[in-house]
Amino acid sequence: MSRSGPAPGGLPAAVLTIDAGAIAANWRLLAGRAAPGRCAAAVKADAYGIGVDAAVPALVGAGCDTFFVAHLDEGSRVRALAPDATVYVLNGLRPGSAGDYAAARLRPVLGSLDEIEEWTSFAQGESSAPPAALHVDTGMNRLGLPPQALPEALRRMTPALLMSHFVSAEIADDAINARQIAAFAAARALAPGVPGSLANSSGLFLGAGALHDLSRPGYALYGGNPTPGRPNPMRPVVTLEATIVQVREVEAGATVGYNARWTARGPRRLATISVGYADGYPRSAFGADDKPGGLALVAGVSCPIAGRVSMDLIVIDVTEAPAAASRRGDVVTLIGDGLEIDDVGERAGTVGYEILTNLGSRYTRRIVR
Ligand SMILES: *Cc1c(COP(=O)(O)O)cnc(C)c1O
Repeated sequence: MSRSGPAPGGLPAAVLTIDAGAIAANWRLLAGRAAPGRCAAAVKADAYGIGVDAAVPALVGAGCDTFFVAHLDEGSRVRALAPDATVYVLNGLRPGSAGDYAAARLRPVLGSLDEIEEWTSFAQGESSAPPAALHVDTGMNRLGLPPQALPEALRRMTPALLMSHFVSAEIADDAINARQIAAFAAARALAPGVPGSLANSSGLFLGAGALHDLSRPGYALYGGNPTPGRPNPMRPVVTLEATIVQVREVEAGATVGYNARWTARGPRRLATISVGYADGYPRSAFGADDKPGGLALVAGVSCPIAGRVSMDLIVIDVTEAPAAASRRGDVVTLIGDGLEIDDVGERAGTVGYEILTNLGSRYTRRIVR
């Protein structure tokens, strides 16, 4: 991912600020919940869009020594930033890639007898093949061995970690949580002495049955709320700000943007800001006559998005904002200052996870340590 510096000739169009200190503080809070088990960090998808180069050093500094990524190449990037860490690759072993895992000292998370076969036959020929984890499926039906195949898998290998993944951990009273907790306990009973790992961010808030030897939070590290519907215990990590490029006054009946989806109900003051869907801001956050959209904060005042989100521009209704803070060149906030990524996701009909992972490479990025 490219990291541009400040735009030549003045203010950058949009700035993404990453608070690395908040990532470290969030890890410490989650590690406290995971105790006496240990706490890892999920840093797949470039640390959920935040950038592994910002996240991994902060996490290592806080004491994190185990990371989970999705792909082999993501693992290699983490390995370069954290030479001594344990790095697991969740999406398993791509056919023929065992040597690449060993070369980068990455641990595949194996989820089928075929993968186990390929890994064990590779490892036998090596003096020091890295250990591997085993994923047992307890209800997701996405990755991992069915529990019935676990005895056979354990005859063929002794994993360094036995893991499973929650389906609905963020919905604390969903009955499937208790079923998965019980199924994972039964799986672990077949593998005495093998460390277990079950909880993601929200799983850390499901009680003792979800806590095993290693927890694997991701979203909450980056400021996402692991307990939706309840106050967010995490510190915000991401702030997204954009600059106003033009301001106009319109009369009642004026429409805004492509396809004229938003109509002024009276005289309004509109500001056009220099961010759009090509930057990763969701197009689905548009505000229309029949649908509220996303918000921007102007001097702390919530200003609704008016009309479609364009590729490079968004129009916001700044009528309620102080005129002195909504002129050309002023800066508005799209994420941060109390506008949480969970809210941004909800207003765009998606989840905060998707808002984070879409944070584009077009922003000027600032890392605060
Ligand atoms: C992404 C992921 C995590 C982290 O989940 P969060 O909800 O972001 O905390 C943990 N385990 C697995 C298998 C994952 O895919």
